[in-house]
Amino acid sequence: MATATNSHANETTAAYTANDISLIVRAADFAARKHKDQRRKDHQQTPYINHPLGVARILTEEGNIFDPATIAAALLHDTVEDTKTTFDELTEHFGPEVMAIVEEVTDDKRATKAARKQAQIDNAPHKSHKAKLVKMADKLYNLRDLERATPLGWDRHRVREYFKWAQQVVAGLTGTNDALEQTLKEIIERNLAKK
Ligand code: NDP
Ligand code: ZN
Repeated sequence: MATATNSHANETTAAYTANDISLIVRAADFAARKHKDQRRKDHQQTPYINHPLGVARILTEEGNIFDPATIAAALLHDTVEDTKTTFDELTEHFGPEVMAIVEEVTDDKRATKAARKQAQIDNAPHKSHKAKLVKMADKLYNLRDLERATPLGWDRHRVREYFKWAQQVVAGLTGTNDALEQTLKEIIERNLAKK
C-alpha cells in the first residue's frame, strides 16, 4: 500500500511500493483475460478491456486519484457483472478491500433490468467514497462512448433515456470529486440539450 494518502484517497503524497504496482498490473492482466472474448456495443466492436482500462485512466488523469485499491477496483469493476468471475476469486487474488469496492459497483444480476436501474439511483448516495469514484468514472466513460457514437441497435431516444438515467445516478454521487463531477455535469447537460 502507499504509505500516506489523505482520507479521500486523492492527492497521494507518498511513494508507491512494489506491492502497489504489482496489484495494479495483476488487476489489468486479470481483467484482460476475463474479458478476452467480449466486445463493446459500438459499431467497431471495440475490445471490452478498453473500457475498464479507460475507467482507470479517467481516475488517474482526470480525477487525480492514485489510491491503488481504487485503481485496481476500476480495472476489475465489470468482471463479476459481465464474466463468470466470483467475489471469492477477487478476494483470493486482490484482497478484501478491492473485492468490496467491486462488490459495491456490481449490479444484482437476479433483479430485473428496471429494478437494477432504479437500485443504482437509490443506492448511489450510500456507497463508499472509493466506490463512488469508480462509479463516476464508469458513467463518464459510457456517456463519452454514447456521445461519440450510437451503439448497435440503439436509437436517439434510447441514448437520451440513458443520459437521463445517468443524471439521476450521478446526482447521488456528488461531493466526491470536483473534476469528475464537473465533467459529468457538462456532458450530461450538453447531450440533454440536444433536440
Ligand atoms: P444497457 O444497460 O442495455 O446498455 C448500456 C450499458 O452497456 C452501459 O452501461 C455499459 O455498461 C455497456 N456498454 C457497452 N458498450 C457501450 C457503448 N458503446 N456505449 C455505452 N455503453 C456501453 O442500457 P439501458 O438498458 O440503460 O438502456 C438505456 C435506456 O434505454 C433505458 O433507460 C431504457 O429506458 C431504454 N431501453 C430501450 C430499449 C429499446 O429497445 N428501445 C431496450 C432497453 C432499454 P458497462 O459499463 O457495464 O460496460
Ligand atoms: Zn463499466
